[in-house]
Amino acid sequence: MRRIGVVLPLALALLVACTAVTTPATPTTSPTATVPKPLPTPSGDEAVFAQQRERMVIDTIERRGITDEDVLRAMRTVPRHLFVPESQRQHAYGDYPLPIGYGQTISQPYIVALMTELLELKEGDKVLEIGTGSGYQAAILAEIPGIKVYTIEIIPDLAESARERLESQGYTNVHCKQDDGYYGWSEHAPFDAIIVTAAPDHVPPFLMDQMANGGRMVIPIGPPGGYQTLWKFVKSPDGELQAFNKGGVAFVPFTGPGAESHRGEGGHEWPFP
Ligand code: SAH
Repeated sequence: MRRIGVVLPLALALLVACTAVTTPATPTTSPTATVPKPLPTPSGDEAVFAQQRERMVIDTIERRGITDEDVLRAMRTVPRHLFVPESQRQHAYGDYPLPIGYGQTISQPYIVALMTELLELKEGDKVLEIGTGSGYQAAILAEIPGIKVYTIEIIPDLAESARERLESQGYTNVHCKQDDGYYGWSEHAPFDAIIVTAAPDHVPPFLMDQMANGGRMVIPIGPPGGYQTLWKFVKSPDGELQAFNKGGVAFVPFTGPGAESHRGEGGHEWPFP
């Protein structure tokens, strides 16, 4: 295990998750219309969702400073409403996380875009995601040209439904597995990028070890059920680590025997692997 050579400020600088709430855009109607409107057809719904998706990208993602063209295109492309339970569809493009069952959430769209941008993906990269959940973040990663995605989910039902959802949408570059992601996916390591979408209170050392030289990891670290700090780790080509504090976030806890048996190791404030 390697200590990080950089000491960083620990204050939760910026609360970036679960903050603003926007109302989903609604289609405009003409006040002079006299003919009753036909019932919405599936294609009509799709057009409304597409409009809401475009507003989401402009109002909550571009406006907050995300500029990576591939990330913006992915956020414009993936049908987020197909990754949330039917009862939540009308909220799919709102600026907040949503429940996906089993006490878990699909992250706020801005956080998905921010974490994806922080990974600095390039053609040919292999990415490991811990916490498949709905599969939405995996689909966003899979939309980046030339990327292979490996994703692990600990809850069997979520793992199965995400696998089916991703398959049915034609994401052949996403490989899913049901397991405790604490131990990574050694058969496919090393990874050029690792993204963790549940919060442990320390960096799982297996993930650090499975990061390629020149790789990046984006991970929330902090106490379960509270606010955490979003960290970006960069491993230089000769294996030196640097850590960057990317502000305060709120994620669901990283569960499972791996994290639980090592809880407290490394502490909340010093995310040393
Ligand atoms: N990326 C997801 C967000 C899911 S929320 C999406 O786009 O929808 C975080 C997910 O991490 C939950 O589904 C939770 O079950 C999962 N998780 C928590 N601990 C885990 C672990 N040890 N290994 C794998 N997945 C884990």
